[in-house]
Amino acid sequence: SLSNPLRPVLLAAARSSRLEKTVSGMTLTRKLVDRFVAGDAEPAAVSAVRDILTSGRFVTVDYLGEDTTDPAQATATVDAYLSLLRSYATLSEAAGTQHTLEVSLKLSALGQSLPGDGEKIALANAHRIVTAADEVGAWVTVDAEDHTTTDSTLSIVEELRRDFPTLGTVLQAYLHRTEADCRHFSGSGSRIRLCKGAYKEPADVAFQKPGEVDASYLRCLKVLMEGDGYPMVASHDPTMIDAALELATLTERTAEDFEFQMLYGIRDGEQRRLVAEGNHLRVYVPYGSQWYGYFMRRLAERPANLMFFMRSLASN
Ligand code: FAD
Repeated sequence: SLSNPLRPVLLAAARSSRLEKTVSGMTLTRKLVDRFVAGDAEPAAVSAVRDILTSGRFVTVDYLGEDTTDPAQATATVDAYLSLLRSYATLSEAAGTQHTLEVSLKLSALGQSLPGDGEKIALANAHRIVTAADEVGAWVTVDAEDHTTTDSTLSIVEELRRDFPTLGTVLQAYLHRTEADCRHFSGSGSRIRLCKGAYKEPADVAFQKPGEVDASYLRCLKVLMEGDGYPMVASHDPTMIDAALELATLTERTAEDFEFQMLYGIRDGEQRRLVAEGNHLRVYVPYGSQWYGYFMRRLAERPANLMFFMRSLASN
């Protein structure tokens, strides 16, 4: 949670390539990484997806990677998504007829921050992926990254939405701007994933206190639930989950009209309980070798995860 005193340190460490080398090289890190990441390669991810679908949950798969500084790496990321989407076709039996399959993209992995025409490159790369997803009937959601990318990301999303109206986007409740963004983006046919936000952000753009972030989340959730779009409630927090269930009842939304989302490996029992009670729940499944940034953000969220990690360091 945001009250973890080591959160800023860990989120700064998440951006250090020197620490990335050290942490990635430690043999005991792998076991802990495996709790949050479905594997290095596509077959492991597809097998995790199959298990999740069999349990009645939906999935969104993220090919790990961010802050790409090389156009070739961005192209390799597109290829990984295209290959993954081809393998989605083999899952159609487990997947059923609804939009149970989705991919999540980070525009920074598709070239957004490349100097010069990075935004154009990211738009073109994302367009290729969204086109391929559309062909196999899978949904796509664009992840939210740090606040310096928000304007660029949302303008690329608006551009893509002209061709693909169901393209999902993520809004982060810790940003001051997000309640307004929720109003702007929650029109008919839209899909918005609301999360608290996972990056280290300055006080002039983001709420710093956990209580303020939670209050913002609840305000945003109300806007989305009362809006005309499809809210995707991404949180492990029981308060947010209860509020979503209550607001859904108040706004007469059925289980088809919104969904819960949680991260792979986090609160598995709660995920299954929500599904058993008739709700739709999607699991965010990350895979790939570039797990460092993702992994460090998960450690920053939860002191218990961090303690586990420290213990493995001590015995390393
Ligand atoms: P927290 O404040 O972290 O936790 C609140 C409470 O939840 C805890 O006090 C505890 O009761 C419970 N809890 C949390 N973890 C556990 C656990 N492991 N075991 C038991 N109880 C637990 N962030 C972005 O910035 N951009 C994105 O694009 C993005 N996409 C996301 C997609 C999904 C599907 C999800 C679930 C999260 C995403 N996030 C994203 C991360 C998000 O912003 C938060 O950092 C993360 O979800 C932690 O916030 P929380 O709402 O779960 O609550």
